[in-house]
Amino acid sequence: MANEASAIETAAAALTLRADDVAGRFEVASTKPGRNEADIAQILADLKFGTVFTDHMVHMTWRLQDGWGECRLEDYGDLSLSPAASVLHYGQEIFEGLKAYRHADGSLWTFRPGFNAVRMNASARRMAMPQLEVEDFLGSIVDLVRADAAYVPELPGALYLRPFMFASEAFLGVRPSHRFEYLLIASPVGAYFANGFTPVSIWVSRTYHRAGPGGTGAAKTAGNYASSLLPQQEAAAKGFEQVCFLDARDEVNLEELGGMNVFVVYSDGRVATPRLTGSILEGGTRSAIIQLLADGGIAVEQTAIPLSELIADIESGAVSEVFACGTAAVVTPIGRLASDDFDVSVPFGEMTASIHERLTAIQAGDAEDTHGWMFRIS
Ligand SMILES: *Cc1c(COP(=O)(O)O)cnc(C)c1O
Repeated sequence: MANEASAIETAAAALTLRADDVAGRFEVASTKPGRNEADIAQILADLKFGTVFTDHMVHMTWRLQDGWGECRLEDYGDLSLSPAASVLHYGQEIFEGLKAYRHADGSLWTFRPGFNAVRMNASARRMAMPQLEVEDFLGSIVDLVRADAAYVPELPGALYLRPFMFASEAFLGVRPSHRFEYLLIASPVGAYFANGFTPVSIWVSRTYHRAGPGGTGAAKTAGNYASSLLPQQEAAAKGFEQVCFLDARDEVNLEELGGMNVFVVYSDGRVATPRLTGSILEGGTRSAIIQLLADGGIAVEQTAIPLSELIADIESGAVSEVFACGTAAVVTPIGRLASDDFDVSVPFGEMTASIHERLTAIQAGDAEDTHGWMFRIS
């Protein structure tokens, strides 16, 4: 079965917690006044991605003997860390990314936080890091967004939420850390595409891989991003905005971009996306798009997509659209794909626009949430 629910989707769908069930788990340990209304208004009037953070952050600490504790809502600020903290040497770090939205009636919502909670635990397992209680993950979002509600902009803006966990034990031996910190920080962001869609250009890397068989590609971990930066920099020097990686074993099949999954739309109406091979990160946006298309009678083929076939199909017109997807941009049309031996243009089309429209309408509260994806924070 191509479209059976994944382990993450199944576990996420089983969660029925509501905001009030998980609120108040983090003790308020804030000592400073936050920004005043005028300063927040100024920030919200000129939004950029990930540069300004809200007044508070959630923080808790895990110790080998005690498990998670010291759950607190602190003032946002610098951390104090030993230079021997093992994250700085061996990179035990995982993160998540999601958004909080302000609906027209002023209520605050987020999109499938249970998916992110379950995925964070899947990443933790692969990186030999402790599991988080789903209640703590969801509770951290509820407590922080409620505390810093003034920072959730009007649509199409959102409050970007960044949960992360890292190894903080001061120890240079190579083994899983005996101490970890979990934090949640938040940053108001504007619409990714302020002036309509801008298709991106993609360089297909034949020199580098972001992940390989048995590696950490399916975990949302810092190192995967670190390995994507030099290819990204080299592509940028050639005039390309993003890099697409191929499977590391055969260098034949499309995998994904450094931080976004990819979809291919055929002119006969079929839609395909690379099968989750173990080196691809399972995106929540990818999962939602597969479901939305299934609702409309299109069974997305999760399959191997050989680069050579894709290029030939673009050239023949058999492929009509290619797009990337992820929480930050939702859907990004891909307008050009190139490498040393090809350079093809792809038109921007209906399917990409309609998927973006349907997904953002659910997130905005303008379309019915038939899958129960929206989670009310307040
Ligand atoms: C986060 C991420 C994605 C997109 O995941 P979403 O849940 O849709 O935001 C895709 N690929 C990689 C490598 C990622 O880190």
